[in-house]
Amino acid sequence: MTGYFAQSLEFIKGVGPQKAELLNKELGIFTIADLIQHYPFRYEDRTRFYNILEINDAEAYVQIKGQITSLSMVGAPRKQRLVANFNDGQSSIELVWFKGATWLRKSLKKGVPYLLYGKPTRYGRKWNIAHPELEPLTATNEKAGRLQPIYHTSELLKKKFVDSKFFSRTLQTVLPAVVRQIRETLPTSLISQYKLMDKVAAIARIHFPETTAHLQEAQRRLKFEELFFIQLQILRLKGERNEKHLGFVLDNSELLNEYYEKHLPFELTGAQKRVIKEIYADLRSGQQMNRLVQGDVGSGKTMVAFLCMLISIGSGTQCAFMAPTEILAEQHYKNLKSYCDLMGLRVAILTGSTKTAERKIILNYLKEGDLHLIVGTHALLEDRVVFKQLGLAVIDEQHRFGVAQRARLWQKNKDIYPHVLVMTATPIPRTLAMTVYGDLDVSVIDELPAGRKPIQTKHYRESGRLKMFGLIEQEIKKGLQVYIVYPLIEESEKLDYNHLMDGYESISRRYPKMAISIVHGRMKSEDKEWEMQRFVKGETKIMVATTVIEVGVDVPSASVMIIESSERFGLSQLHQLRGRVGRGAAQSYCLLMSGDKLSAEGKTRLKTMVDTSDGFLISEADLKLRGPGDLLGTQQSGVLDLLVSDLMRDGEILKHARMAAREILRKDLSLALSEHAPIKSHISSLSKNVVNWGRIS
Ligand code: ADP
Ligand code: MG
Repeated sequence: MTGYFAQSLEFIKGVGPQKAELLNKELGIFTIADLIQHYPFRYEDRTRFYNILEINDAEAYVQIKGQITSLSMVGAPRKQRLVANFNDGQSSIELVWFKGATWLRKSLKKGVPYLLYGKPTRYGRKWNIAHPELEPLTATNEKAGRLQPIYHTSELLKKKFVDSKFFSRTLQTVLPAVVRQIRETLPTSLISQYKLMDKVAAIARIHFPETTAHLQEAQRRLKFEELFFIQLQILRLKGERNEKHLGFVLDNSELLNEYYEKHLPFELTGAQKRVIKEIYADLRSGQQMNRLVQGDVGSGKTMVAFLCMLISIGSGTQCAFMAPTEILAEQHYKNLKSYCDLMGLRVAILTGSTKTAERKIILNYLKEGDLHLIVGTHALLEDRVVFKQLGLAVIDEQHRFGVAQRARLWQKNKDIYPHVLVMTATPIPRTLAMTVYGDLDVSVIDELPAGRKPIQTKHYRESGRLKMFGLIEQEIKKGLQVYIVYPLIEESEKLDYNHLMDGYESISRRYPKMAISIVHGRMKSEDKEWEMQRFVKGETKIMVATTVIEVGVDVPSASVMIIESSERFGLSQLHQLRGRVGRGAAQSYCLLMSGDKLSAEGKTRLKTMVDTSDGFLISEADLKLRGPGDLLGTQQSGVLDLLVSDLMRDGEILKHARMAAREILRKDLSLALSEHAPIKSHISSLSKNVVNWGRIS
């Protein structure tokens, strides 16, 4: 938005420089455009008036016309409250204020008509309303029929009288000009196909709705627009990439077949087979693949990746396999090497701690094409790592890698970008995947190998601690191992460390003869590795740790995962942690320890964990409880700064928006057609906005 919409707010009647500056600071509202897009977050239903006699249990907020008939301070001096009697002409109700009583006592007047808005509660047989809103009855508010918009504001702003009414007033002032200036951003064809309200009407009605139906249509239109433009940009990027970036044609499956027939240690699950087929189709399509494989912990992603790498190697190119930590890289290296050895393929590992002399040799081999596969960490991204012909790069546990790193991998083969396969065990709901990973194609391994024993999950409060010790002893006697995980939240880091150390000490005291490992973020990384290795090798039986062990480590003889203060973890994190056990043949257990007092949300989280082990169900529950930003961490939540849409509830609109975007790009990838002019100009104004925001923050 330019011109009129880029103007700052200070010259608008009733705003002024002080309020403008506060709006800047507190809410990030700079321009008229920002103001217009500061949509109400809820609406109060002022569409009807109530009689006091009508009030019953079922009612939430009510709006009543009436007068104050008595007004008095009640209670001991320091705990005084203001009590009023409010009469609507037929009967009365008691009003009460605990805060601001003295001031209100002076400003409220008896015997003048007021409009009251508040939420009644029942005390015995009587009703009362605490802290109602009262405003003098006027010609405007006397008419029923309004949905009153409520806007986000801040305490500081409220003190300066920047409240919902302020926003409504200010928007009223600018509305006539806005209506004149605003331009439609969607082509007429879309508006009629999806029966959308036009932009002008939608903006007017989201701020000044007359009926609920109008409001819903306005919201649907604005949500559609918001999601449509996100999808359009994602799909356009992808479309352009497909046009520009040809991929290697990797279509030789001889190695794959050989391994499959002679060495495959188990039967693949149906889901693994399907996903391999999907990937194979990409690999020989002639276009560069960017595919995400989502699969719950233990679903067998590594084997899928290995079989695909056999296609790549069989077709004469090299592969890279990148993991987020050294421990994981080593574990993958060990597994992949054992597979590769059977096939006479050459594989090496490269991490930050690879010795210089060895690194030299490895780098040279890679460049000469003497290595088929390199496993490693971020170290693989360095410029000195040069391949003879990189055909396929696999990234394990995607959430630790950003899009930028993926792009650096592409650069490893400048003639033809390598195919990229990203694997994640963080299942995310489809609606979210379409947005966050919108430029990736998605395959899902939604089946676990047969014969896995489901992990038994239990929730214990303090009283269950003895049972916890019982289980630890029982499992260690069987020769199995135990994790005990403590939360570590930045804000309360010090307390959390104390908590962890106390836990470690009490376990050490209880089991004085047992070797116990401890791993946390304050340790040097060599020490961490060393302790991890001791546990991996079975030299220690109990691992006390913070969430550093969250991702991917495989210790098949670990059969118990105990999570302390589990109510403080998010659902996805709990699920990831639980996935660390249940990887071997033994029955595994997950104990969620918690305090006795739990919030409603905490209870729901723990109950969800006890009730289900399905990663997708858990991620949907998580999204409902916490919202998408938290789910993905701040890193990726940028894409999700949505003004009106809610990915959890608006899945259906998102689906249509994506369909519409795809349809348009199929006809006109560069948006050159004149009917698509509104889209094109809106996109360029969107990206201008992005630049501005970047500069400001
Ligand atoms: P993740 O998807 O969590 O990365 P892994 O690839 O580490 O899972 O596989 C977990 C374990 O299951 C490994 O020990 C692997 O060898 C085994 N596995 C994989 N696929 C199958 C299968 N189809 N049948 C039996 N075991 C399998
Ligand atoms: Mg894995």
